[in-house]
Amino acid sequence: MDARIDRLMGIPFWTPPPEKYPGRLPEKADVLVIGGGIAGVSLLWHLAGRRIEAVLVERHHLAWGASGRNAGFLLAGVASSYAEAVRTYGREKAREVWEVTNENHDRMIEAARGQEVGHRRLGSAVLPASDEERALLVESEHLLQEDGFQARWDGNRLVNPRDGEIDPAAMVAALARQMKPASIREGVQVSAIESRRNGVLLTSGDDQCEAGVVILATNAYTPQLVPTVKIQPTRAQMLATAPQPRRVVDVPVYSNFGYRYWRQLVSGEVLVGGWRDTTLATEKTYDDEPTQGIQEHLDRAARGLGAEGEVTHRWAGTMGFTESGLPLAGLVEGMPNVYVCAGFTGHGMGFAFMTAKGVAESI
Ligand SMILES: Cc1cc2nc3c(=O)[nH]c(=O)nc-3n(C[C@H](O)[C@H](O)[C@H](O)COP(=O)(O)OP(=O)(O)OC[C@H]3O[C@@H](n4cnc5c(N)ncnc54)[C@H](O)[C@@H]3O)c2cc1C
Repeated sequence: MDARIDRLMGIPFWTPPPEKYPGRLPEKADVLVIGGGIAGVSLLWHLAGRRIEAVLVERHHLAWGASGRNAGFLLAGVASSYAEAVRTYGREKAREVWEVTNENHDRMIEAARGQEVGHRRLGSAVLPASDEERALLVESEHLLQEDGFQARWDGNRLVNPRDGEIDPAAMVAALARQMKPASIREGVQVSAIESRRNGVLLTSGDDQCEAGVVILATNAYTPQLVPTVKIQPTRAQMLATAPQPRRVVDVPVYSNFGYRYWRQLVSGEVLVGGWRDTTLATEKTYDDEPTQGIQEHLDRAARGLGAEGEVTHRWAGTMGFTESGLPLAGLVEGMPNVYVCAGFTGHGMGFAFMTAKGVAESI
């Protein structure tokens, strides 16, 4: 990789939220949310308007984590096809997951209240990378239609007309902007949590906070605070090209069981991500630097799509994977007053708003 490419390494494409929310750990809070990604701001949004003091703390800045580094696909369901999900979870559960993620799409966009978040409901396409995947997608079309979902096998791809895309960092900013400014505090790293019968004691540097309830919206980073929570940090990598003079991608495309994905913005840039399956073991890491091997795959994929000219951004982010493939939402076992809202397994933009609603309502 040449020096030009080196300078692009690690810079996400999306612009972080422009507002700054400096602050310290409060001495007291009814609810303390840890983590300023889509899950954290969604929690705060759902808690607003209640007669409780809810404060969100983020160690860096809003959307610093996966929420500011992802592809911005708003897809129904999980990474696996509907046919696989039916086998894994059962028909009822699979249907519920698809319904919740469809609702997540609608409710999250409504919650942005007309702010510009780059939303386009232009559908998505799942392109099979093998005969096995093709058969699963053909079967999925049938099952999805039977269960009342819009999906169409067009002979090459499974088209999901209800799906869409956003600018994920703008989405985080749009929710945060509606909150009381002092309820968000950036630059606060929680280093310890002690669960007690009547609340939770948190530590950040020399500061301490007595909170009634804590919610871990720390996705991949959750085990760093509470090691008993089973979430596997998993790196995902992307690149973005300079604006292309012509359309080379029509809708957000997902392929090879979710291991490959690409889209083209209205402004012409092509975003390509994935190829983690080429080196699964090395991507189970908290290291969020892009690697040469995967970036070369992404380069080839971008060229294969017909994208020309320079690559302007190369970056990686850390996803949080659960064993079931579904988010963890609710009380942490053995830790009274500590809740988790995390483990979105590569689909947090599709899940987090509604998952946060459920957790906020259960408190
Ligand atoms: C390259 C890539 C592509 C992806 N593409 C998509 C996609 O197209 N569609 C989709 O739905 N999902 C996608 N995902 C997954 C999606 O980005 C995540 O599921 C989602 O952003 C998780 O949001 P979150 O708020 O739970 O976590 P994060 O956004 O990671 O936020 C967690 C925050 O917690 C903070 N934090 C951690 N520990 C502490 C602490 N001790 N004290 C204070 N703060 C702390 C971190 O700094 C971080 O900002 C992708 C992910 C990646 C990396």
